Amino acid sequence: MMRAMTRAWVEVDLGALKRNAEKIAAAARVPLLPTIKADAYGMGAVGVARALEATEPWGYGVGTIEEGEELRAAGIARPILVLTPILAETFAAAQAAGLRPALGDAAAIAAWGPSGAPWHLSIDTGMNRAGIPWRDVGRIRDVVARFPPEGAFTHYHSVLKDRASVAVQTGRFRDALAQLPARPALLHAESSAAIEHAGGRSPWDLVRPGVFLYGVGTAEGLDPEPVVSVRARIVELRAIQDGDTVSYGATWPAPGSHPEDWPRRIATLPLGYADGYRRALGNRGWALLHGRRVPVAGAITMDMTMLDVTDVPCDVGDVVTLFGRDGGDWLTVQDVARFGHLSPYELLTELHSRLPRLYGEPQ
Ligand SMILES: *Cc1c(COP(=O)(O)O)cnc(C)c1O
Repeated sequence: MMRAMTRAWVEVDLGALKRNAEKIAAAARVPLLPTIKADAYGMGAVGVARALEATEPWGYGVGTIEEGEELRAAGIARPILVLTPILAETFAAAQAAGLRPALGDAAAIAAWGPSGAPWHLSIDTGMNRAGIPWRDVGRIRDVVARFPPEGAFTHYHSVLKDRASVAVQTGRFRDALAQLPARPALLHAESSAAIEHAGGRSPWDLVRPGVFLYGVGTAEGLDPEPVVSVRARIVELRAIQDGDTVSYGATWPAPGSHPEDWPRRIATLPLGYADGYRRALGNRGWALLHGRRVPVAGAITMDMTMLDVTDVPCDVGDVVTLFGRDGGDWLTVQDVARFGHLSPYELLTELHSRLPRLYGEPQ
């Protein structure tokens, strides 16, 4: 096996990623602005962007100037939109890298505008996070007329929790756009869940899918293929007797286990919460070993995780799947998130850089 596969690693199926992009583009029937911020949700922005190039997206969405610079250094030439607001003192750096900022106030627009470089107007329709409040768009008419944006966008706060809120925010977006001196060429609003929820052609010019590309759907019918697997090798095995405990705090076994349950066999994996295998999975997570589910035993530690493998014959060196497919079974990102009462977004983005990323080629 490759050196990268001697401890713990992340496998990214770029073929599945590309098919997910094609699937969501076919549903929305407008060009994509894939969001590859936060190192493409932990999958590796450069590898992901290179795979997505074949789908001819309009451009890419990132969270920081540094993320945009990394893509430029890797030769990505398409438009890059920095979705998070940036300070005016960093405008020169953004311009040098050919990045488009998301601007949401008159002073920022007046500072950026004279460069003549493209920018997008960020319109806040209820999230109260970033952008000009929709009610105030009329107040920036003059500066927008002087320096017209290439695009304008908003972001939905509760696509899955409150469907009515989507219509409210869409109405506010339309009201705000009506206050602009001219319609920007590129309007966009929908993230993955909103695209899935709309279930048809987007009413706008671009869509901004993120998590769907990485294999996390919303159960709205546009099932994405799984993209990410996390695997680790067993580094030690031990038999433990009735009365023994596992890991910090001695929380395993749960009180009240039966004498006939003993002895138990415990496998140690060389990955822990410092790799992004979250502490919340202690005593709650499940992994796959030779196609069978085995439970996490005890607290997750910084660098190691223990599993109860009593029921599955195995040896040191065997591969355990923490997320992903193994034999006939499969743990999705959502499954693992559910075990730990976590958000799938956090699970993905917190996979630490200490885990090497192995890429399966796009097909
Ligand atoms: C992250 C982000 C997206 C993508 O959201 P997903 O839920 O991952 O599809 C879209 N738009 C903006 C402004 C974002 O910040």
